[in-house]
Amino acid sequence: MPEKPYDKTIKTINKLAPIWQKRLGLDHWDIKHTPIDNHYGDDNGQDHKVTATTHAQWQYMDANIKWYLPSAVRHDDETLEKILVHELVHVLLSPEQTLIDTEIVHSSSHGQYNETQTNALVERNYEHIELSTEMVTKALINAWQTHT
Ligand SMILES: [Zn+2]
Repeated sequence: MPEKPYDKTIKTINKLAPIWQKRLGLDHWDIKHTPIDNHYGDDNGQDHKVTATTHAQWQYMDANIKWYLPSAVRHDDETLEKILVHELVHVLLSPEQTLIDTEIVHSSSHGQYNETQTNALVERNYEHIELSTEMVTKALINAWQTHT
């Protein structure tokens, strides 16, 4: 029976995930990779470009990475690997990355920021998180390619 494209994608993720989790020192975490047979945001008609999202409960060393298969299948193995490392870096940095968000929400609930200010701060924090995640991802992949 021929392999379905989703099967190939899931196989690649399941093959690479333990390798990179070990490289990043995340092998004591409980990291689930959940395949989703939908585009991200299908329920409210949003972004179809998102391939994966990460939700980490760092207090419990527990994370769930959701893979949106209709988006994921469009990528070759090399790109999938880069996305995987990016998501795992989110896990790695999650205790730091949630800190500012918590602070913004706290200050906002105490009337320090209005709604517009709160949204702008959350948005800017999100962009900073993406930048730091992407920089660490590129550094890791570069270092790995140079030394092997
Ligand atoms: Zn990201």
